[in-house]
Amino acid sequence: MQGIYVHIPFCKRKCRYCDFVSFPENGREDFYFVALISEMRKYAPLMKDRVFDTVFIGGGTPTCLKPGRIKALVNELENCFSIRENAEITCEANPESATCEKLKELKEAGVTRLSIGLQSADEGVLKAIGRIHTKEDFLSAVEAAKSLGFTNVNADVMHGLPLQDTESYLETLRLVTGLGLTHISSYALILEEGTPLYEDVNAGRVALPDPDETADMEDAGIAFLAEAGYRRYEISNFAKPGFECLHNLNYWDNGEYLGLGLNSHSALRLKGDWTRFNNTEVYAEYVNELGEGKLPVRNTQRIERDEEMFETIMLGLRKTEGVSRKAFLERFGVDPAEQYAPAIAELELDGMIEVTEERLFLNRRGMDFQNEALLKFMDQ
Ligand code: SF4
Repeated sequence: MQGIYVHIPFCKRKCRYCDFVSFPENGREDFYFVALISEMRKYAPLMKDRVFDTVFIGGGTPTCLKPGRIKALVNELENCFSIRENAEITCEANPESATCEKLKELKEAGVTRLSIGLQSADEGVLKAIGRIHTKEDFLSAVEAAKSLGFTNVNADVMHGLPLQDTESYLETLRLVTGLGLTHISSYALILEEGTPLYEDVNAGRVALPDPDETADMEDAGIAFLAEAGYRRYEISNFAKPGFECLHNLNYWDNGEYLGLGLNSHSALRLKGDWTRFNNTEVYAEYVNELGEGKLPVRNTQRIERDEEMFETIMLGLRKTEGVSRKAFLERFGVDPAEQYAPAIAELELDGMIEVTEERLFLNRRGMDFQNEALLKFMDQ
């Protein structure tokens, strides 16, 4: 499988916990799109032998763009690249800007999957983390999406947030599952250095739930979502059967993807070499270098076979179904159960991993201690 990721770096206002490359637009959108389109056109001849299965327009907030922009973006992607018919085309949306008009544009552009950033249905929690939307905005966005015929809708939610307890988190999950959404991504807050929330927490102005409380929220959420018919297919992702996100599954299968836009990352096999690179995260560099006809690429790395194998294990074990032994064997000419026999033996003793004829995967205990489990593969 092969995917394309397009980064839209604009947000109306920065959320207090956010360290993504995103910022207010302040008159930059037109310049950004001139650069983005020249980037696509530069890649077009290099990608002509590939057929892409998924597109993910992420951010930032793609729905805060000017009217017609997403439609033009998808058109340009289709002009530059071969995108499979019936490809999964996801667009991220924030509740306050996912208006009926905007979602109609997305539908007409061919977007097949919406991913709406709710984070919490508790107004107090939303305020504490600096979100600019309300629960009502989210409800209106979902209603608009349904009325326009979107049948594959994700909600992003978070736990471990200020003012949040298990009941408040479960209330959010009750809301999104009650609306019949097909996919839930639920991440624990990571307190990133340099963010306003980090400063507030360190200065004692804001308190976070303690790690035990956050772990309790996570456990309660996993149990609730299973009961509601959502399969946990990756550590933080839950889907109704058949609605797993193909674009993200490709990441966890260590598949190929092309990143476009500011700070986007790519992993591609180029002339036989597994290669990773990223774009600059500096807006002016991105726009200026493309203006001069250059790709704003940084940190190109040819990945050695051993490292590519380790990446494939590390990413694959994020999925509950783990790593396919057959796919691994076809890719590397070696069975992962043999390649990593010492690490697997240790993890079996710790009761963290299971190996079947088809695959190796972390069980629930292994998922709970995933970092420790992956260290065994690294140390081997
Ligand atoms: S909407 Fe998303 S990308 Fe934008 S500031 Fe908030 S968390 Fe960051």
